[in-house]
Amino acid sequence: MTRIGSELVVRSPAKINLFLEVTGKRNDGYHELDTVMARVSLSDVLYFRTRSGKHIDVANASDVSPLDFPHDETNLIVRAARALQAYTGYFKGVSVRVRKRIPAQAGLGGGSGNAAATLTALSHLWGLDLSAAELERIAAGLGSDVNFLLSGCRAAICTGRGEQVNPVPIGMPLYGTIVKPIPGNSTASVFAGLSCPETLKDSALLVSALRRASVCSAQRLFFNRLQQAGTCVNTEILRILTAGRQLVGVPGVMSGSGSACFWIFRTHAVARRATARLASLTGTFVRQFHV
Ligand code: C5P
Repeated sequence: MTRIGSELVVRSPAKINLFLEVTGKRNDGYHELDTVMARVSLSDVLYFRTRSGKHIDVANASDVSPLDFPHDETNLIVRAARALQAYTGYFKGVSVRVRKRIPAQAGLGGGSGNAAATLTALSHLWGLDLSAAELERIAAGLGSDVNFLLSGCRAAICTGRGEQVNPVPIGMPLYGTIVKPIPGNSTASVFAGLSCPETLKDSALLVSALRRASVCSAQRLFFNRLQQAGTCVNTEILRILTAGRQLVGVPGVMSGSGSACFWIFRTHAVARRATARLASLTGTFVRQFHV
């Protein structure tokens, strides 16, 4: 978080799910998860400036950004700011400029990260004296991935519907490539197409490989229970995972409810070469990243 003149500038990173198991269905319609999330270097940048009146407006910070986002009440920046106004009774508004680099409907938590960044930035900019527990409660009401991105953890096991965050140490840097087909996925449709598994996988083996800094072991343990349902709602995902595996020699995995997939490699140099190969996949958004 940096202050430049009257603006507060905040980075809003994306997440990937290195592991995601669905451990049950709840009465409230949500699913219980056992997921390992990691914060990645791909991020949006948000610029906040207090304004008079209670208006909250969001605008694109760049005329040339190819990535668009909703500017209305459905935007999670607006929802997070409104939630703070409602909780505290604060009477001013905010103008937010967004440099969008994380694609929407990707399973990368772009909107959730923007909500988390908004909670952090406005608590500061508006001088709201909120405890961490209060911010966490507001975050959980905005979406299942907001708490992880609010926590600032590099990686965590997230349980409940995803909002309960337990930090996980990673013993090494992870270098990778994100590939997203142009069509995105609706999270609700992917969960709706899921058949709950009879035998559950456990994140413990992956967590142990990450602690031991073993990229080779970790690579074999990346898993996403939602991947099959994701490929059913969006056939582009299977095309990318199949063609990508042939190009780089190791399997990729879908992140969250998709449609972005990712590959992790042993070194930065290998990731760089692999990213150049994956960039030949037509109709995709491709970015190199690190964790
Ligand atoms: O929490 P979020 O707004 O990201 O969730 C979007 C939708 O995804 C939910 O309305 C629900 O249908 C589904 N979902 C779920 N179980 C979760 C998280 C999301 O069924 N743990």
